Parts: sequence; structure tokens; C-alpha cells
Amino acid sequence: MYDLHCHSTHSDGLLSPTDLVERAAGRGVTALALTDHDAVSGLAEAGDAARRAGIRLIPGTELSVSWSDHTLHVVGLAIDAVHPTLIDGLATIRTGRIERAHRMAESLARAGIPGAFDGAMRHVTNADLVSRTHFARYLVETGAARDMGEVFKRYLNPGKPGYVRHRWASLADAIGWIHSAGGIAVLAHPGRYRVGTSQMRALLEEFKTGGGDAIEVVTSNHTHAQVAEFTALARHFGFLASTGTDFHGPGESWMDFGQLPALPIGLPPVWTRRELH
Ligand code: AMP
Ligand code: MN
Ligand code: MN
Ligand code: MN
Repeated sequence: MYDLHCHSTHSDGLLSPTDLVERAAGRGVTALALTDHDAVSGLAEAGDAARRAGIRLIPGTELSVSWSDHTLHVVGLAIDAVHPTLIDGLATIRTGRIERAHRMAESLARAGIPGAFDGAMRHVTNADLVSRTHFARYLVETGAARDMGEVFKRYLNPGKPGYVRHRWASLADAIGWIHSAGGIAVLAHPGRYRVGTSQMRALLEEFKTGGGDAIEVVTSNHTHAQVAEFTALARHFGFLASTGTDFHGPGESWMDFGQLPALPIGLPPVWTRRELH
């Protein structure tokens, strides 16, 4: 059983790499990719835990990308986690995260919520990886919102006080860094982007032309209709199909390990690539 997308305390997940691997193994996952946002620092620990648990750990990361007016996520699978081109690219994105966090806090302060930078940083578990999730946990803690769903709706989604525009990596750079490190480039959770039918086709066209290898067809928040839609698009553009929960932690995720539906039969999965063997 493959799960090719999840997060640990090295980005915005709640479990250490060891606890994450043990949870996945206990729920029947036999090949797990750890894909922390813009970071690879959890992979060594995850690899050790996977060896002890008797499952396979596929080294991964999830890169933050700006495309048109949208933020996209591109997962790199089977990467060489010490490749300097990838390491440098990820470090640049992480530096941008700190600068963005200051701007988010200033914007929240103007909206009457002071102290959000320090508050969010208290939830950060990897010193140079701060995300909206950490702001969300702080805002829930202070009672500004009841839960993670509400806090994003009220404060952190585009158009809300805690949201600031930010320039992430380009799509071409993200794919290039992943390929330099010998990895497979996968467009993460395509159903989550707020783009219409024709813009989605333009995005997939550009991802294909840029060397993108696969798209996530099955992910925790895709509906049946979206699985069907992205199955058809994967066939049309010649993308391999990937699958993953995007698990962040108990109580905070749509789906736990072991709960994903199977990929549609006849659709070539990303693990047909020898890099994942
Ligand atoms: P960032 O990359 O810092 O902009 O943060 C994005 C992260 O926020 C995603 O990877 C999710 O973990 C989290 N996130 C986004 N929207 C929601 C939501 N509605 N509920 C819970 N978590 C969310
Ligand atoms: Mn996340
Ligand atoms: Mn993502
Ligand atoms: Mn993710």
C-alpha cells in the first residue's frame, strides 16, 4: 500500500518522522513518502524508522510554487536529498517563508491581532520552516477561531487579514530542482486549486511541457468526481498517477493513513517509474 504525501514536525505536521512512520506502518502502509514542505531534514530519521518498521521510505519534499496568480504545490519523489541544487532551492523558499511570516503578522496586527509572529513561532517545530498552519494553531489557541477550518476561512485564506501575497519558486525551477536531484515531479492535490476548466488545462499543459511526470489523482480531499476528472486528465496529458493522504496529524487531517481509495484500474501509477523501485 502506497502513501506518497505526508508531513512531519520538520514542516507543519504534528508527529515526528519516527511517530509518523510507525503510524503509517501500523495502518498498513508499506511504501511511504515523507514530503515536508520545502524541507528534507526529516528524511534521515524517517529512513531509520522505516527500516525498523519494515516498510519502504521514499524520500520526498513538497515545493511551494507561484504560477499565474496561484500558489501550487509540486511534490518531488525519490529525490537525492543531499543534491546541492535542490538543497539551495529549498533554502531560498524557506527564507521567503520567514519574511512572509513577518508580513502576515503585521497584517494581522492591523486587523487587531497583535503578537502573531511570536505566537506562531511558538508552534514552529523546525526553526526555519514557518507556515500558515503555525499561525492557524496559534489563532485557535487564542480563541480567535474554533478550529483549523474556521481559522483559514476567517483569517488565512486569500482576501483575509492574515493572507499576504508571496512569490514562491517558479514552476520551471521547482521541476528543474527535483529533476536535478534525480526525482519525479508530481503536481499535488490538483483539485484544491481555484482554477476553472480551461486554466486547469493550461496549467497541466505547462506542467507537461516543463517536464512534470505525474499528478495526484487520489488525495484525501478529492471527491469521486474529481478522481474521475483527474483520471481523464492524466490520460489525456500522459501523466502517471500518484496517491497520498497529505496527512498532517491526528485530528487535523481529512484522512488518516490506510484510508485512501485505490487508484483507478488501468491508470499507470507513478511507482512504475524505476526511480521508485
Ligand atoms: P503555507 O504553505 O504556509 O501557505 O501553508 C499551507 C498549509 O496550510 C497547507 O499545507 C495545509 O497544511 C494548511 N491549510 C491550508 N488550508 C487549510 C484548511 N482549510 N484547513 C487546515 N489546514 C489548511
Ligand atoms: Mn501543510
Ligand atoms: Mn500541499
Ligand atoms: Mn502536503
